[in-house]
Amino acid sequence: IIELKNVYKDYQQAGTLQTVLHDITLDILVGEFVAIVGPSGNGKSTLLNLLTGIDHPTRGEVIVDGVRLQKMSGEKLTSWRGGHVGIVFQFFQLLPALTLLQNVILPMDFHAALPKRQRKQRAMQLLERVGLAEEAERLPSQVSGGQQQRAAIARALANDPALIVADEPTGNLDAATAASVFELFAHLRDQGKTLVMVTHNEALAEAATRKLEIRSGRIHADDSRLSAH
Ligand code: ATP
Ligand code: MG
Repeated sequence: IIELKNVYKDYQQAGTLQTVLHDITLDILVGEFVAIVGPSGNGKSTLLNLLTGIDHPTRGEVIVDGVRLQKMSGEKLTSWRGGHVGIVFQFFQLLPALTLLQNVILPMDFHAALPKRQRKQRAMQLLERVGLAEEAERLPSQVSGGQQQRAAIARALANDPALIVADEPTGNLDAATAASVFELFAHLRDQGKTLVMVTHNEALAEAATRKLEIRSGRIHADDSRLSAH
């Protein structure tokens, strides 16, 4: 489902060019659950941004579902993403002026695969699944960080995407809530979804079928032996 070929990413930092990702070549297959680990500032979020087309590589190719992401931009990329990829951002990125419910409905409005009257119902179901039924009508600023994180997960699932990309989805959750989010991801894995997530949560990394360690912008270890599931 995902193919990276000799991917490099440079950023301009304080007037000098920093290579944040070095020559990453990687295939991720349909149904894999990849846990990305590695120290802070080593390129994990940058790598996720390339997989979703939020950012483009300086060199190399990123192909998702047969589509070369560099070739797309603007609206075309946004609409492609809406139907194919669900993204849970490291810092949630919920729209502050919309309620949690409206935030979850939003991707469905963009994608328009579901009739309008069913969107609210589906959004409520998703919020229930992440334990936020009671908070549906609140604004992001009126709920906790962990609740925002769960709303962001519900939003990522809105269009039932085949690929789910998540950046530290349990980073702000207590152990009990993290466990319920973990169960949700394990369920998605069992449904055959492809999951790529940055996580330092041991249980989540254990549930993955593959562990990818990024150090200094390179693949330091790629361990698929976990695929006993
Ligand atoms: P963390 O675990 O703290 O989230 P990370 O592994 O996700 O870290 P990245 O966010 O990918 O790290 O950042 C890798 C490097 O790229 C860092 O040195 C960061 O400062 C730099 N970087 C990331 N985004 C940009 C940007 N838009 N412009 C300039 N530099 C950037
Ligand atoms: Mg990061």
